Amino acid sequence: MLDWFPYAACQGSDVDLFFPVGKDADAMQQAGDAKNICRRCPVRLQCLDYALTSGEQYGIWGGVEADQRCPQDEGDLERLFRSRTEAIDGSHLLWTGYVSRRGTPQVRHGTRNKSAYRIAFYLHHGRHPRGYVTSSCGQDGCVEPSHMQDETTRTQQQSA
Ligand code: SF4
Ligand SMILES: [Zn+2]
Repeated sequence: MLDWFPYAACQGSDVDLFFPVGKDADAMQQAGDAKNICRRCPVRLQCLDYALTSGEQYGIWGGVEADQRCPQDEGDLERLFRSRTEAIDGSHLLWTGYVSRRGTPQVRHGTRNKSAYRIAFYLHHGRHPRGYVTSSCGQDGCVEPSHMQDETTRTQQQSA
């Protein structure tokens, strides 16, 4: 049983609204209406978490459309990453997406969860990180790609 569902903002709405078909103007409008409901839903994260863990392939869950939950390639991964961020003062980039219980910002890519820190690092450095990726700026929740450090760049900075 989904114990969060009684709190869902979509209670009482037409279920079909959350399953737009195709990508034409009507479907986009429908998806927009559904996402507006999700936006003010108190259990949005639980809903998204459920869809990701159970591998839901259709419909809008937690305000996220199916093709955004399961991107096909690296271009998709970047789009997925960018769509879950918001630029804030001080040239930081705030993560607005899913955060694991251990506090790691994550996106679902294919069948795996990927750390948003690692994606961010890759986007800026053009290579996969070595060891842990941490944010160098100290801003809570920041995933700005140029603020990411891995083992190698941390060591370089310490010895500089
Ligand atoms: S996030 Fe959207 S789909 Fe999920 S429970 Fe809330 S309103 Fe319903
Ligand atoms: Zn930052």
